[in-house]
Amino acid sequence: MLHFRETSEQADIVGLVADFCPICRDIRPFTLRKILKVKTSGFILVAIPVVEHYESTEVGCDRVCNICNLDLPAISAMYESVEPVTGLTLDELVRETNPEIYKKAGERLALEERIRSGKLESDRRREFLLEPFRVLEHRIRKIRGSDRDSLSRILVGALILSIAGLIVSSCVPHPVKDALQTICGLGLAGSLLALIVRGCGRLNRKAKLGLVLRSEIYPLLGRALKPLNPSREEIMDVFQDLRRERTISGLVLNPESIVAEMDCLR
Ligand SMILES: [Zn+2]
Repeated sequence: MLHFRETSEQADIVGLVADFCPICRDIRPFTLRKILKVKTSGFILVAIPVVEHYESTEVGCDRVCNICNLDLPAISAMYESVEPVTGLTLDELVRETNPEIYKKAGERLALEERIRSGKLESDRRREFLLEPFRVLEHRIRKIRGSDRDSLSRILVGALILSIAGLIVSSCVPHPVKDALQTICGLGLAGSLLALIVRGCGRLNRKAKLGLVLRSEIYPLLGRALKPLNPSREEIMDVFQDLRRERTISGLVLNPESIVAEMDCLR
């Protein structure tokens, strides 16, 4: 019987609210969600998982834009109410859930108007060009996953030790030599095989990351940057900042793909 224990994240829909979306650059309907950390444990009985223990803890809230699918952290207490997912218009949703939003976001909406009409002050352009990358940073980090790979370092260590053991075995007397060669041979083959499997896994993850970036992230960046109509040089300058700040966006995104996305929208 095989026992298992896992921790995962679950998002439960609470309802709809109206709020400002920095990708759509306007007031939009958002789906408010409760984020739960779920711990399950149990055992596998004849290929069927049997859950013995289930525990879920609320760890916060987020809101997902119903138009562009951007997810942002949220505080449910900031809304007057949360509406069930029904056919309310945006104006009705604003009135019921966030009646002060046009006042609260007034300054930002005025700046968005300046962006749309091409009148944004030049000293504020960089801040607005960087913003979409900053709001998408946590999503890109989640898609990319953890970069820490301590197991690979352990396997490389085992490989080096096995090779060293095989070299040393030639200088020791016979009974010890045979045992050492068997152990080191098995260690060498095992660690080599495990490293090849992990290498294939990494290549697969890299290919998947590229696919998700193309289907989700570049279209969102194109949509958010389009009203600013940045030149190729401006995008390159933004990337210099992102890389200087050691952001994940600066590391995994390709500025040329963003330029190409912008060209498609022009
Ligand atoms: Zn949006």
